[in-house]
Amino acid sequence: MFYRKKLLPHPVGAGIIFGQFFPGDSMFDITTYAQQAQALIDAGRFLYAQGWSTATSSNYSARIDESHIAITVSGRHKGQLSAGDIMVVDLDGRPVQCQTRPSAETLLHTELYRLFPETGAVLHTHSLGVTVLTMHLKGQDAVVFEGYELQKALTGQTTHEAAVPVRIFDNTQDIPELAAESRDWLAAHPDVPAYFIRGHGLYTWAKDMATCLRHVEALEFLVNCELERIRMER
Ligand SMILES: [Zn+2]
Repeated sequence: MFYRKKLLPHPVGAGIIFGQFFPGDSMFDITTYAQQAQALIDAGRFLYAQGWSTATSSNYSARIDESHIAITVSGRHKGQLSAGDIMVVDLDGRPVQCQTRPSAETLLHTELYRLFPETGAVLHTHSLGVTVLTMHLKGQDAVVFEGYELQKALTGQTTHEAAVPVRIFDNTQDIPELAAESRDWLAAHPDVPAYFIRGHGLYTWAKDMATCLRHVEALEFLVNCELERIRMER
């Protein structure tokens, strides 16, 4: 108790004594945290190299357990992430055992982990292709991919013949409002693991980081196909 009082700055956190977490409401497994932090660092190197997370944009997260996620700290360069750029938040988006500020969009991540408990990773990127296509489609509230073989890279999609609607939400700085808006749409379309924000970027989620990265790659390919078609039809 003495150590808890001395080391713990607030009553709900867990703490480390001699390298071990003592019981508390916010206890999480530090080995799983380290593995997930490394997965985020590796994802950042890849996504930045593709040009999809330019100028400190984007945020990534990975689940540690049923009530904690590892997430990138706001404003960090995604091609140069290190362990100090990854923090832990609970499913309300509150920092756990750290003083750093999570991304303003943390609520959009926690929303997905809450809605879809099987989610193990969420990636949000800001690519040129998604930005341009969603701006071009002003007035349209979804991109419907149909007939593309690569649609099958999205979890739950088994045929190129399906029409896969990916919702476009208008960009806003009011993240709680966007979280509420996305909640309603996602509840009605649980089979499409992605959405776009106009002039901004994409969100996608999956059971693990490898699958989530596959989603990002597939969506970027599909978006570029649509852009090429628009150019050719001019
Ligand atoms: Zn963003």
